[in-house]
Amino acid sequence: MGFISKILHSNRRGKIEHGSIHKPVHNAVSFGYEDAKELALVFQGEKSGYSYGRQVNPTVSALQEKITLMEGGHASVAFGSGMAAIGSTIFSILQSGDHLVSSSFLFGNTNSLFQSFAAQGIEVSFVDATSASNVLNALQENTKLVFVETIANPRTQISDLEAIGEICDAHGLIYFVDNTLTTPYLYKPKTAGANLVINSLTKYIGGHANALGGCVTVMDNFDWSLSTRIHESYKKGIVVDWVVQQIKKKGLRDFGASLSPEAAQNISVGSDTLALRMDRISENAIELANFLAGHKMIKEVYYPGLPSHPQYDRAIKLFRAPSGIFSIEISEEIDCFDFINKLDLVICASNLGDTRTLCIPVAHSIYHEMGPERRRQMGIANSLVRFSTGIEEVEDLKSDLAQALS
Ligand code: PLP
Repeated sequence: MGFISKILHSNRRGKIEHGSIHKPVHNAVSFGYEDAKELALVFQGEKSGYSYGRQVNPTVSALQEKITLMEGGHASVAFGSGMAAIGSTIFSILQSGDHLVSSSFLFGNTNSLFQSFAAQGIEVSFVDATSASNVLNALQENTKLVFVETIANPRTQISDLEAIGEICDAHGLIYFVDNTLTTPYLYKPKTAGANLVINSLTKYIGGHANALGGCVTVMDNFDWSLSTRIHESYKKGIVVDWVVQQIKKKGLRDFGASLSPEAAQNISVGSDTLALRMDRISENAIELANFLAGHKMIKEVYYPGLPSHPQYDRAIKLFRAPSGIFSIEISEEIDCFDFINKLDLVICASNLGDTRTLCIPVAHSIYHEMGPERRRQMGIANSLVRFSTGIEEVEDLKSDLAQALS
């Protein structure tokens, strides 16, 4: 079956209560058992079942299964946000004294999180991951994990995904890929050898900016018996399940950043149209990026769908479409705030992956905390404005941009 048919019917085929088409919202936090021994077996991981709402819930489970299917993975663990998924997962599988190599082109909060890891004794090296040789050169004896975004937020650099996958495989390193900007419809990081894939469900997968969520999908392509970090009591059944348990217990249960059942259902319903939205969003982005690239008031347009983008060939080879994020640098003659304030249809807001087109002055908002030096290293100019295209009629968006620039 194709991506859309498979996703649309996945939960229903899993026999939802009363033939309901959507998995219902199960609000219960606790789950009662007739037989106390059965509850004990669920706690001990000997029997599947629900123990407590912080750890899992039937509505959340249904969403996890859907994301696993989308990514072609083994199992998924959902969290209350994308950041919770990244942070809790890494905390659950690395320890003080370990080293991780990360792309230096990252979403700002992930960058900030990694600085906090460093303060807790997990060493971090930031490298330009558009070239795999930089990752190779940064490896140390204690390196355990490599983290990259497929398309980096906000400057749209594309990591050398396949070559980094080969390096991780050759050195026994965990390859952790953030697929948020591409989504499993446009790209499956597993094809490049990713072992763990994170998606912020808040963005394209949920797609309507009405629920926060995040998810880590575990692939069945890493020998977790080599990891000394897995707790003895989780070493049951097939080896890949050990790490699923580790993330569920040490990550989700102990940090407690759980996804609410209401949010899970909103995201699940939103994800039904992921493929349609990504096609339309990418078409709109291509058209708008081309329009802006030819405008005299625009200095630069960063978009993987433009042949001028340094990783254009990689984007064409790997992704079904170039997705909906592009950033522009405006001519010095224009104040970026004036330009944004003149927009009427495009909304100035902090988010991406919505059905509505959004924009944000990056250096002054989401990258403000980083300071000028780190922004310079990451190629974030003061006039950089990030756009996340929505599904509006593209002519309306073009007219809005044109009138604002004029
Ligand atoms: N990863 C990327 C690439 C993002 O752009 C974001 C948010 O913008 C996140 C992770 C974090 O997601 P959330 O806002 O759901 O915590």
